[in-house]
Amino acid sequence: MKDKDKLQENLSRLPAVDELLRKAEMQPLLECYPRGLVVESVRLELAAVKKKVLAENLQVEEVFSLPVFVAGVEESLKARLAPRLKRVVNATGVVIHTNLGRSPLPAAALKRVGDIACRYSNLEYNLESGRRGLRYDNVEELLCRLTGAEAAMVVNNNAGAVLLVLSALAAGREVIISRGEMIEIGGAFRIPEVIVQGGAKLREVGTTNRTHPADYERVINEETALILKVHTSNYRVSGFTAAVGSAELVQLAARFSLPVIEDLGSGCMMDLSAYGVGGEPTVRQVVETGVGIVTFSGDKLVGGPQAGIVVGRRDLIEQVKRHPLNRALRIDKLTLAFLEEVLKCYLDEKKAVAELPTLAMLTLPLAELRRRANRLRGLIHRRLGSAAGFSAVVKEGISRAGGGALPMVEIPTWLVALQVNGFSASALERFFRSRPLPVIARILDDQLVFDPRTLMNDDYREIAAACEDLLRQL
Ligand SMILES: *Cc1c(COP(=O)(O)O)cnc(C)c1O
Repeated sequence: MKDKDKLQENLSRLPAVDELLRKAEMQPLLECYPRGLVVESVRLELAAVKKKVLAENLQVEEVFSLPVFVAGVEESLKARLAPRLKRVVNATGVVIHTNLGRSPLPAAALKRVGDIACRYSNLEYNLESGRRGLRYDNVEELLCRLTGAEAAMVVNNNAGAVLLVLSALAAGREVIISRGEMIEIGGAFRIPEVIVQGGAKLREVGTTNRTHPADYERVINEETALILKVHTSNYRVSGFTAAVGSAELVQLAARFSLPVIEDLGSGCMMDLSAYGVGGEPTVRQVVETGVGIVTFSGDKLVGGPQAGIVVGRRDLIEQVKRHPLNRALRIDKLTLAFLEEVLKCYLDEKKAVAELPTLAMLTLPLAELRRRANRLRGLIHRRLGSAAGFSAVVKEGISRAGGGALPMVEIPTWLVALQVNGFSASALERFFRSRPLPVIARILDDQLVFDPRTLMNDDYREIAAACEDLLRQL
């Protein structure tokens, strides 16, 4: 026989797809998984077998065995149906980590959110009148109580809130903004572009580092709709600087009957300085300056779900509520249910700090962080202590609030720094990141560092389990 014929004869001994699907061993898979996916996986596995036979010049029987084949198909089905969006362990110490889902939500609220999710609710139904209601009626009173504002509403996120407010209050007219506040937040959200997207004309005033009241005053005219103030969340100008504060801006704008709109970004709901985390004005303080509208995120310092919270003067909020874009940016019922529970925590500030993970993590005392770092070091040491060239040391470091919140504030912490012979820091980082439950850690000075600030109780076990697996690889 020619080589080519021999090859054909060899491959022809591989069972066909139909034949495989009829095998008794395949029936459990066909019961558990959609038929289309099983067929696809069988084809892929068969192709892999063929490839191996050809590449290594083997006989089909040396590569193919039914039990191994079926196990391979099951493996591939499981992998394809595994959730893509999944839990990870955040060992970075960045509390409001936008890439890792920003604020973890309080588990205690899950039951109530589940009820709203899986049942009907009064989402847009006024139970007193028996008529249609507004979805944010359910949190408006709470938001007003917590911020001192006259009126409130919520939309999908803060970027949406800013766009909506500008569209409703400034379309076709001018928006004045300081050149020091024309920022990009990331994800292509640039304040000057949002102003234009909202249909308004941009009037820049001042300079990058210094803007004075007279700069604003000089450009006010009949076309001016409002003055926009933006929290420079993710950068800071230092040195020879001047900016006009909210209160002063409000006084100036009032002389021309103009509203000041403030994009606060993070939106701190309570004064955290007693816990050593300071520097941010609270939403209430900003409202008290007389600003017309304040917008902020639900999932930054508030510690809630993704949302854009809008609070302020009733007449302005009513205008915003009526704008058609509002419908496109509306908040969904799960978010609203979670937001209500999170906001309720703030009725008692001690409760908020204890129950909202974001606040609890940000305010962890240094001594507690040191205790946790030692606990983590102990767990790691127990698994890896015998490995050659192993070291795990507890040392001082820095955590960050993240999410553009308190960007420059360095929050002291205690870290565990890990080194293992034969693993570079980046190989270690990849090992922890590639686990079924990924552990995301930072590289610092050529070591892999874990920050206990953002670790939850059961995360310690996961890191320990990862170390056990690592030992097996050494
Ligand atoms: C984060 C941020 C935004 C965007 O808020 P999202 O909730 O992420 O949409 C807008 N403005 C400022 C100043 C911010 O810090």
